[in-house]
Amino acid sequence: MTDTSSPNFDGRALINGQRVAAQDGQTFDDRSPVDGRLIAQVARCGAADIDAAVAAARAAFEGRRWAGQPPAQRKRVLIKLAELLLAHRDELALTECLDMGKPLRFARSVDVAAAANCIRWYGEAIDKVYDEIAPTAADSLALITREPLGVVGVIVPWNYPLLMAAWKIAPALAAGNSVVLKPSEKSPLTALRLADLALEAGIPPGVFNVVPGYGPEAGSPLALHLDVDGIAFTGSTRVGKQIHVMAGQSNLKRAWTELGGKSPNIVFADCPDLDRAVDAAVGSIFFNQGESCNAPSRLFVEESIKDAFLDKALAMLPKYQPADPLAPGTLMGALVDPTQLDTVLGYIESGREQGARLLAGGSAVEPVAGGCYVQPTIFDRVTNEMRIAREEIFGPVLSVLSFRDAADAVRQANDSPYGLQAAVWTRDLNKAHGVARALRAGTVHVNQYDGDDITVPFGGFRQSGIGRDKSLHAFDKYTELKTTWIRIDSPV
Ligand code: NAD
Repeated sequence: MTDTSSPNFDGRALINGQRVAAQDGQTFDDRSPVDGRLIAQVARCGAADIDAAVAAARAAFEGRRWAGQPPAQRKRVLIKLAELLLAHRDELALTECLDMGKPLRFARSVDVAAAANCIRWYGEAIDKVYDEIAPTAADSLALITREPLGVVGVIVPWNYPLLMAAWKIAPALAAGNSVVLKPSEKSPLTALRLADLALEAGIPPGVFNVVPGYGPEAGSPLALHLDVDGIAFTGSTRVGKQIHVMAGQSNLKRAWTELGGKSPNIVFADCPDLDRAVDAAVGSIFFNQGESCNAPSRLFVEESIKDAFLDKALAMLPKYQPADPLAPGTLMGALVDPTQLDTVLGYIESGREQGARLLAGGSAVEPVAGGCYVQPTIFDRVTNEMRIAREEIFGPVLSVLSFRDAADAVRQANDSPYGLQAAVWTRDLNKAHGVARALRAGTVHVNQYDGDDITVPFGGFRQSGIGRDKSLHAFDKYTELKTTWIRIDSPV
């Protein structure tokens, strides 16, 4: 394991196969939320750096340096990249942990492992996905083929920095595109290492570029760029809306957005296993410090089991108290930065002011001096109009709401701008199917909350975004469909 006492990460951009400073030489400080230490000086890139990266990506694409390679070769390279991620698992996990505050154990077992699996899966798909022939009349042949978009811009958030990058770049590269990735300014380091490893795996220079910087300074020029063919964004709904505007006002580049959520978790009195339901409700909202787009942040529990449910939930809280993310037993680490800590504390204050009952938590703590930590927090007597029920907190705060019957539960669950995920717990098959059908969400869980597989599409209804990550459906975002009509004047 790398020495954690004096980490010093390379924060320069990677453009056209080279690590480079921002053209104007500017940098910004990257501080660890674990203890406030400065861990890197990161290139503060702007429009000129984005121009250079897009030009490199365009030259690589037009030169067919990547798309022109045989599918079996591109497959080998992406699989090699997945293997390199696993070979650097400790280093990447430590970087992720120090950069954004999540427990080291989960960075290793979830983030790095899932990113490698994602890249391997899309690599494997390269020589297994076939194009189509349409069932037209006998005097013609209509081929339906997929072509890469060209240059794809990718903008990702800070909560799963490596994994969100992998969800985008793996299908984009597998489809033959060149990529310019802008990581979040709050956690840019693993994306830069991913690009180093991609070069080592054999992805040609210029095909995969990483340009760190702030949203308005580096993200906007990428989304507005006239030579970028598609933009794939994960982040807040507020910025996601701007991405669609920027795509439209520039060159109508394809725009795909994976945005926020306020996911409802509905537990009926006939839920098949109360302990499992409590485990899932508590474990899923406090996993990753609540900084997950799909966290089940609105819990609807039927009145007759509510006291028992909440007693069990409260009994679980001691093990979720924030602790040093580097310690092996830690389940909840640090929030990403002091700004996010203030945001979460502000929401907790608004819950109090609007009349919700604070059952547990509610305060900042400092298990490690100088770090950004908040207690696991549960509010009862929340109503769906309160800010803590309507707005995405992106922190370890669970809001507990009541409902009258199944119809009322569904009505309240759907009464949200978002539609990312939802869950229903019941033994009754009719109720499970009926409620699952009625919930307006991209994913509905029944009697679980942790279903997750690279083969399954991930994304939302409504203001949770447009498009899907993961699965073969993700290829839709990174390819254009082309129809080629061929006339057949058959001599026989
Ligand atoms: P954010 O929208 O603030 O930032 C996301 C990215 O956009 C960052 O790289 C940021 O620098 C960039 N950005 C900011 N302003 C920009 C601008 N004007 N132009 C271009 N780029 C700009 O989101 P965040 O705080 O980093 O991430 C948290 C959000 O991400 C939450 O809302 C969460 O739900 C969402 N998220 C969604 C999914 C999903 O799959 N649906 C997954 C993870 C996170």
